[in-house]
Amino acid sequence: MTFRRYLSIKDGDMPEKFIVMRHDVDKKPGNSLKTAEIEHSKGVKATYFFRMRPCSYDEDIVRKMQSLGHEIGYHYEDLVLANGDKAKAIGHFAESLQTMRAIADVKTICMHGSPLSGIDSKDLWSDYDYKDYGIVGDTFFDADYKTLFYITDTGRMWNGHEVSRRDNVPEQMEWVGKGYAYHSTADIIEALDNGSFPHRAMITTHPQRWTDNGFAWLKELVLQNAKNVVKRAMNKRR
Ligand SMILES: [Zn+2]
Repeated sequence: MTFRRYLSIKDGDMPEKFIVMRHDVDKKPGNSLKTAEIEHSKGVKATYFFRMRPCSYDEDIVRKMQSLGHEIGYHYEDLVLANGDKAKAIGHFAESLQTMRAIADVKTICMHGSPLSGIDSKDLWSDYDYKDYGIVGDTFFDADYKTLFYITDTGRMWNGHEVSRRDNVPEQMEWVGKGYAYHSTADIIEALDNGSFPHRAMITTHPQRWTDNGFAWLKELVLQNAKNVVKRAMNKRR
């Protein structure tokens, strides 16, 4: 289901098993469109979070995705763009929503991690409330990760919580402690087949990392391995 649908279901009405399918469109929106089409062909509805940047936001693609029944959300990084100036950032946040809402029904948000910046865009919400802007939920603040298993492809693996600087939820380590940790996609498929995968989960992917082209796959492998070394070192310094 989409993130918005998850938010709309009351506790007692939650289905026994479900997956909230989330995609962060950091760049290469064409890859996300391909993913959206594959999901559509399988009857899956997902949420795609777009940045307000030329490398991510593409009106034609947003329109197409919405017509396939997917949800469109805002992948915000306004506080980083405004260099920490909160008044400026909330102005940019409102403007971005207005631009997106001209073509899409945007009701949910999710922060873009900006791993190389010292600024955390979520800090904007210590002074402002996104609910005043017609937003019904933020993936970080409004999902219950005690009951929802969270898994992301950050770091080009499914258990990259050590390398992820901000794309993380605090409850993740409790799940890992209980033995819910998967490294490769094959591990997830195996867990689904033998029934050991958590019944309620949010899966986050970055479609720009995914490809069925062998050369592009190898390039992603080498670059991400190099990046993970840097991110690990930065995390140690914190
Ligand atoms: Zn992102």
